[in-house]
Amino acid sequence: MGRTIRSSSLRTASPGEVSAAVGRSRRDFLRTATGIAAGSLFSFAPRVVSSASTLRQPKVVVVTFGGGARDEETFAPEGQENIPNLVHTLIPQSTFYAQVINKGILGHYVATASLATGVYETFNNFAAVSPHNPTVFEYFRKDLHRRADDAWVVAPSNGFNRIGESDHRSYGTGLGAGVILPKRLLASSMSGSAAGYDHLLRDSYEAPFYTPELAGNEIEMQKLKELLKLSVDDFSSHARSLASPDELSVYIARRLMREAAPSLLWITLHDIDIAHSGTYSMYIEGIRRSDRLCAEIWQAIQSDPEYADRTTMFILPDFGRDSDTDPGGNGFQHHRTGDPLSRTTWMMALGPNIRKGVVIDRPVESIDLVPTLGSLLGFDPRFAQGKALLEIV
Ligand SMILES: [Zn+2]
Repeated sequence: MGRTIRSSSLRTASPGEVSAAVGRSRRDFLRTATGIAAGSLFSFAPRVVSSASTLRQPKVVVVTFGGGARDEETFAPEGQENIPNLVHTLIPQSTFYAQVINKGILGHYVATASLATGVYETFNNFAAVSPHNPTVFEYFRKDLHRRADDAWVVAPSNGFNRIGESDHRSYGTGLGAGVILPKRLLASSMSGSAAGYDHLLRDSYEAPFYTPELAGNEIEMQKLKELLKLSVDDFSSHARSLASPDELSVYIARRLMREAAPSLLWITLHDIDIAHSGTYSMYIEGIRRSDRLCAEIWQAIQSDPEYADRTTMFILPDFGRDSDTDPGGNGFQHHRTGDPLSRTTWMMALGPNIRKGVVIDRPVESIDLVPTLGSLLGFDPRFAQGKALLEIV
């Protein structure tokens, strides 16, 4: 049986002990849920390098899992019904890190920027600033001499509009990724009459009064629509069928894959963060939708000849959410206490050269992602502070 973390036992445990317990428990939960034999959990299966992947340049898709979800609603036995695709389809194909610790600031923009730079960025989460350290997109493009349309970010919130490019003097301007803000694209297509699309256009769940200044102008919007081959009519009629901002983001991301096939694609999901409203059922609905969308993205990768057999996909939350027992928080609703549960998450990697059905129990950090991508894709993330994950590179 999987071990359940009792809330009461967390009060006296040190942060390190709690992290270790979270990791152990995830490992046990996964073994039970996926049927991965205990013996295979930590013995490495031989790495299989597919012939197709050695002939073509590799691609990477990074998906951040929606603004933080807790174990109780995901990997704990009572939560697994919310993530059937992760548990039964994706994890058995993945190398899964059970303890990914985020030691940085727990705000979505600054935390996601930290994932993208491999350094815990320290800027104000709500400021309209670029990351200060070079992003993965800049390393990728500068070291490998890639064109601007080979790296893209699809971001949920208008506040993420500067995540594609740092203000670092050795990198920065002209070397980063294009950032597509699907809400802005939709609003621009509606040309002022967005009635009926409010559920897709709602922005940050944390800072309702924050409206960032956007650099993009209508000419850029027009170029983007041409790149994506989006006619206003098609876009607006399709958008009517979409249930949430994340569905809109994945629709745009799939369009981008089909029309531009970027080698480095970063998709940030954010529906789960509606938890800030305090409505538990909407938080759960966000988790279930994120679970489904992750499976759809993986399916899209497998069925697209430009991506199949040469793409590694990473899925990870930016951080967790508060525990029910911390007196400084309000449970699932926020991520403001900085307690161990809100800092301890997970990550999975899937792809042609990734071992399947392996769970890694040792603690790693959020900032290890960029060095890992550097090893996979062949660039040098020289200012990143994390370490490449040796189990997958
Ligand atoms: Zn949040």
